[in-house]
Amino acid sequence: MAAPRLSVVIPVYNEEAVLPALFARLYPALDALGASYEVIFINDGSVDRSAALLRGQFEIRPDATRVILFNGNFGQHLAIMAGFEASRGERVVTLDADLQNPPEEIAKLLAKMDEGYDYVGSVRLERQDTAFRRGASRLMNAVRERITRIRMTDQGCMLRAYSRDIVAAINSCREVNTFIPALAYTFAQRPTEIEVAHEERAAGESKYSLYGLVRLNFDLVTAFSVMPLQLFSLSGIAIALLSVTFVIVLAVRRLVVGPEAEGVFTLFGIAFFLIGVTLFGIGLLGEYVGRIYEQVRQRPRYLVQAVLERKDAVSEPPKQRQIVTG
Ligand code: UDP
Ligand code: MG
Repeated sequence: MAAPRLSVVIPVYNEEAVLPALFARLYPALDALGASYEVIFINDGSVDRSAALLRGQFEIRPDATRVILFNGNFGQHLAIMAGFEASRGERVVTLDADLQNPPEEIAKLLAKMDEGYDYVGSVRLERQDTAFRRGASRLMNAVRERITRIRMTDQGCMLRAYSRDIVAAINSCREVNTFIPALAYTFAQRPTEIEVAHEERAAGESKYSLYGLVRLNFDLVTAFSVMPLQLFSLSGIAIALLSVTFVIVLAVRRLVVGPEAEGVFTLFGIAFFLIGVTLFGIGLLGEYVGRIYEQVRQRPRYLVQAVLERKDAVSEPPKQRQIVTG
């Protein structure tokens, strides 16, 4: 049996509220494409009824559904990685479970791929998120534009289509902390973007806390650029030069004008500023070192508890499948 034309990869973390609506819209939208497809759900250690709902859907559509159950919460991007490794389609589309990007838009992505693009990103029209999220995204998009070579308008939008070649390249990466759309972009030969509709989360709430978002954006920055480190050493040099000048000025002043006690607070101000810069630098180093540490430990990136798939209905993937990798 031939591999399906399309694999749809969906990470699921505590989405019991939205899964029924997702199933009801996703499968008809995919059936309407008129091509063979598989939907791969990755349950990222949900603690609600998500796993049971996925199992139920697997029983309803075993021909087109595969479910990977993680035995813990490993994060959205590693869940997508697992989906990529299991995927067999010539094209792979990622989608969030929360219906913020309508599944009906998948057809548009595929049409764009037909034009010869190997990576089709997406830009959210009238993004339906809080003003804070929109502002923070704008800021991060601007930072990423400046410090990496990755060019995309809306990095946060996960509704994207990738060619088999790009997915294979991603599968050969051993990164622990990563950001799939950016990683894929670095392998793309002909990337493009289209605009897609964006809706409010159909049900449930965002799985990212403020802290989670900060971590995710640090992953995005540190995984694709060492510019922050370089900036830091450059500003370190600048500040060191300034301090030397300052010390010389103080020494000359001491000789010419005599000792002073008044300027003490200015001095404190400058010292605190320097301490602040130093602490920030140490923290930044720590971010990189921490990621290096996670990488060299070579622990499995994620652990699979079970995989639900109908063996007789699915053809074997081209290469040997690795579910758990270090
Ligand atoms: N998700 C996941 N693991 C996590 C966090 C999120 O698999 O640790 C999934 C989640 O179920 C959803 C997608 O990633 O399908 C995006 O999450 P969410 O919609 O909460 O993020 P937001 O849209 O607020 O950025
Ligand atoms: Mg969402």
